[in-house]
Amino acid sequence: MDRQRQLIIIAAVCAFTLVGVAAGWFAALDGAMRDVRFSLTNRPATGEIILVEIDAEAVANTGVGVGTRGLYARAIEELFIRGARSVTLGISVSSREPDPGDAALVRTLQTHAGRVRTITTHRGESGGDLTLAFPSPLFASIAPPVYIDAVMGRDRLKGTYDTTAMHDGWVIESFATALTPSRDIRPDSFFVDYAIDYATVPRVTLSNLFDGNTAPEFFLDRDVVIGLASYAQISTQTVPRYGMLSTPAVELLAAESVRQDRMLRSMGGMPVGIIIIAGTLVFAILRPSMTLRSALLGSAAYSGVLEFVALVLQVHSGLLLETAGIHVAQAGLIIAAFWHELEQKSQSLSKASRERDAMRSMLERVVADNFDGVVVIDRNKTIRAASRLAEDLVGPGLVGKRLEEVLPAPFRHALERALDHGDAMDAVCETAIAFKDVERVIEFVVTLSDIDADESTGRVACLTFRDVTERRHDEERMSYLALHDPLTGAASRARFLDEVGKQLIKPADRFRGVGVFLIGLSRLKTINDTLGHAHGDALLKQVVSRLDLLGPISVARLEGNAFAVLRQGLTTTDDGRAFADQLIETISRPYHLDGHQAIIGARVGMSDSDLSGSSPEAIVTHASLALSIAIDQQGNCAVTFSKDMDARIKTKQDMEIALRAALSNNEFTVHYQPQVDLETGEIIGVEALTRWTHPLLGTVSPAEFIPAAEETGLILELGRWVLDTACAEVATWDKPVRLSVNVSPLQFDYGDIVGDVEAALAASGLAPNRLQVEITESLLVTETSRAATKLLALRDIGVGVALDDFGTGYSSLSYLGRLPIDTIKIDQSFIRGLPQDAEASAIVRTVLMLSESLGKNVVAEGIETQDQAWLLRLAGCKIGQGYYFARPAPAAQIIALLSGAEQDKFTTRMIG
Ligand code: C2E
Ligand code: MG
Ligand code: MG
Repeated sequence: MDRQRQLIIIAAVCAFTLVGVAAGWFAALDGAMRDVRFSLTNRPATGEIILVEIDAEAVANTGVGVGTRGLYARAIEELFIRGARSVTLGISVSSREPDPGDAALVRTLQTHAGRVRTITTHRGESGGDLTLAFPSPLFASIAPPVYIDAVMGRDRLKGTYDTTAMHDGWVIESFATALTPSRDIRPDSFFVDYAIDYATVPRVTLSNLFDGNTAPEFFLDRDVVIGLASYAQISTQTVPRYGMLSTPAVELLAAESVRQDRMLRSMGGMPVGIIIIAGTLVFAILRPSMTLRSALLGSAAYSGVLEFVALVLQVHSGLLLETAGIHVAQAGLIIAAFWHELEQKSQSLSKASRERDAMRSMLERVVADNFDGVVVIDRNKTIRAASRLAEDLVGPGLVGKRLEEVLPAPFRHALERALDHGDAMDAVCETAIAFKDVERVIEFVVTLSDIDADESTGRVACLTFRDVTERRHDEERMSYLALHDPLTGAASRARFLDEVGKQLIKPADRFRGVGVFLIGLSRLKTINDTLGHAHGDALLKQVVSRLDLLGPISVARLEGNAFAVLRQGLTTTDDGRAFADQLIETISRPYHLDGHQAIIGARVGMSDSDLSGSSPEAIVTHASLALSIAIDQQGNCAVTFSKDMDARIKTKQDMEIALRAALSNNEFTVHYQPQVDLETGEIIGVEALTRWTHPLLGTVSPAEFIPAAEETGLILELGRWVLDTACAEVATWDKPVRLSVNVSPLQFDYGDIVGDVEAALAASGLAPNRLQVEITESLLVTETSRAATKLLALRDIGVGVALDDFGTGYSSLSYLGRLPIDTIKIDQSFIRGLPQDAEASAIVRTVLMLSESLGKNVVAEGIETQDQAWLLRLAGCKIGQGYYFARPAPAAQIIALLSGAEQDKFTTRMIG
C-alpha cells in the first residue's frame, strides 16, 4: 500500500517535470545554468572583428557643414587607408532627411563598393512579416544592408539568432553571417556562444582612429564595425552571462560565434524527457533498497554527471542540453522521498507513543488489580502506583503522596534503604504492622527496578506485601491441632509418642522406669446418651484436669474415650501398679456436671521401658494390648503387659489368615436351632448359627471367630455367604418355617445389607416374609438414622427384624417404638436365672408386657429346662429357643426334626 503510494508520487513528479519541460516552465533555471556554463567555459574573441565606437569627442570635432554622415565617410576612408578588409556602418542611415555629409558618404561608398555594408534594423512586425528600417536608397544601392537586431530572432524566448530575414520577398542576410562569408552551410538560426568574452573584442574610439594613436597594423585585414559608443539609442538585450548587453555587442558576439564556428544548437526537449524518465525509473527501482541519505547522494551524483555531460557537449560539440528539467525532476523525487521518510517517521513515532501509552495503562492495571498489596515509589519517594489491596489496607488515595506521609515504619525504612543505598531486599520479610488499629502479620519485599523510559522516574522501588495474619493463625492452629486434642487440650497421639521418644533417647534411659499407661474410660457412652454430648465433653476436660494434678506426667487423649499417661521413675512393677490404681481412683471419683452427678469407670493397660524395651512404639503397643485385656474384664481394673500377651497378638494375626483361607476352602457350615411355639410345641422357625470346622483346631466357636471377622472386615463376605447359604437351604425344606439370620452391625455400616438380602431371596426363591434378620442393640446406638433407613428398606421388602440379646446392652427402650423391629429376643442370661431369680423373672415379665403393648413378638432364648419353658409360657411368651428343645444342628437333622415323628416329641413336651 505504502509502496504503491510512493510509486504514484514518483510518477506524478515525473509527469509534472515532463509537462514543465514541454511548457518551458524551467526556462529561467535553464538560462541561469547556461550563464554558469558560459562563465566556466570563457573563450577569447578572434580579434579579427574590431569595433570602432563613435565617441562624443569625435562628433564634436566634426567640421561645420560636414554632418555625421560626412564623419562616417571620413572614418571609412581612414579605415581602408589603415588596411581594413571590410567596414560595416553599424549606424542606421535610414533617415531621408538631407545631411551635409551625404555626398561625401556616397562617394566613399562608391569608392569602396563591395567592401562596405550598411545595416537594416528591426522596427516591428505586421501580419507575421518583419517591418525593417532600410537605409536611405542613396546608400542602399551602393552598399547593400545586412540585417542586425535579429538577435533573439523571432522567438525571443528561445534566444536564437536568425541567419536571415525576409522582407518583401527579399532575403536579407544577417550581420553575423555576412561578416564571415566563407562559411558555406549556415543554419537558419543558432545560439550565440556567450562563452566568448566580449571584453576581448578589440575596440577603439573614432577619436583614437583619427588621432593615429592605434598601432599601424591594428586594422590590417580586419573586419571593422563602426558603431555608437553608447548603444543605448539602438537597443539593449537581456542575454545569458552578461545580463543587459547592447544590440551591437550581441551582434559582435554572434559574428564571433560564426567566425569561431561556435554556432550553438539546442538538443531540444526529447533527450531531456528521455533522461527524466530514465532517471525516474532508476530512482523508483533503487529507492526501496536505499537510505534517504544514499538516495540523496545518488541523485546529486546523477545530476552532477549529467551537468558535466552537458558542459562537455556544449564545449566540444556546440550542443546545448537544457538540464533544468532533469534537476527539477531529481529535486522533486528527493523531496518526495524526504516527505515519505518524514511521514513514516511520524507514523512510527505516533505508533510507538500509542504502544507506550497502551503499555503504561496495562502496567497501571496490572499493579491496581494485583492480588497483593503493591506500591511503586519513584526516586523522589513519591508513590507512583498502588494496587487496590494496598489502598484497602493502608488507606485510599496513595498515588502522588510521599512515602513518609502514608506508609508505616517497616515499609518506609525498607524503601528508604532501597532508594538511598540501592539496598533491595533479597528475601521476603515478615513483620507485625497495625493497620487501622488492628495488628496484622505482614509479609513484604522491596525490589528495585531501573526504568529509563521516563526521566521523572528513573530508579523505582516496588513494595509488595501480603496480609498473612489468617494464614499464620491457621498454621498455628494446625500445628496446635497436630500436637493437641482440641477438646481437652491434652497432647495428641503424635506428641505423646514424641514425648515418650524423648524420654528414651539414650539406651540407658530405659532403666529410668519410663512407664506408659493407657486408660480406657467406660460408661462414657451412657453419659453422652443420657446427659448429652456437651456434658460428656465437660467430663472429659475434667478427666484431663484431674490427671494433670497427678504430678510431672504427660497426658494425651488418643481417641474418644482413650487416654494415655507418661510417667517416669517407676522402677518396680509395684510402683507402676500403684500409680495405675491411683489413676483409676482419680478418674472414678464422681463428677459434677451442671447439677448432674456422673460416675465413669476406667481400665488401665500399662507397660514400661523395662518390659518393652526402649522403642516408644513398642511400649505404647504393649500398653494398648494390656488395655485390651483389661477392657475384656468386668469393672475397673489395671493390667500390666506381659510377654505372653504378645503371643496373643500372633494368634490374632493367625486367625485372620485362617479366616481368609476358611472362606475360600468352604470350612464354614450353617447349623440351625429351632424356635418353638410354646403353646403347641410346634417348630415355627429356625435360627441360622454359623460353624467353623478348622482342619487342625477343629470346631471354632462363633464367639471367637465373629469378632475376628468383624475386626478384619471379612464379616461382610462371611455375612453374605451365611445369608445365601441359609436362604438356599431353608427354601428347599418342605415345611415353610421362618428363618432367622444374625447380621453384624458392620454389615449395616459398611456393606449393602439390603442388596445382599434381596440377592439371597432372589437366588433362593425364599418368600421374604419367611426371613428375619437378627440385629443387636449396638447397631441402634451408633448411627441410628442410617441403620433405621436400612431397616425400613428391609421391612418394605417384607423381611422381619429381630432384636437379639435384649437386656444386655444399653436397653434403652425408646427406640423400640420408633424402629421397625417386630421381634424381641430376651437374652439367655435372664432366662438362665428362672425360675428362682426374682429380679430376672420381674424383668422378663416387664419385657413381655411392654412388648405386648408395643405389638412386638417375643422370643425367649436359652431355655434349658421344662420349668423355664412352662414359666415363660404362663407369663405369656409365645416363642422359645434353647437346648431344652434342640441344640443347633446341621440342616439334615433339622429336616428330620421337622418330619412328623420328631415334631410330635416337642408337642408332647409342651402340652404334656
Ligand atoms: P445368639 O444369636 O444369641 O445365638 C444364640 C446362642 O446361644 C448360640 O450360640 C446358641 O448355640 C446358644 N444357645 C442356644 N440355646 C441355648 C441354651 O439353651 N443354653 C445355652 N447355654 N446356649 C444356648 P453360638 O452358636 O455359639 O453363637 C454365639 C453367637 O454368635 C450368637 O448369639 C450370635 O450372636 C453369633 N453368631 C452366630 N452365628 C452368626 C452369624 O452367622 N453371624 C453373626 N453376625 N453372628 C453370629
Ligand atoms: Mg441370634
Ligand atoms: Mg442371643
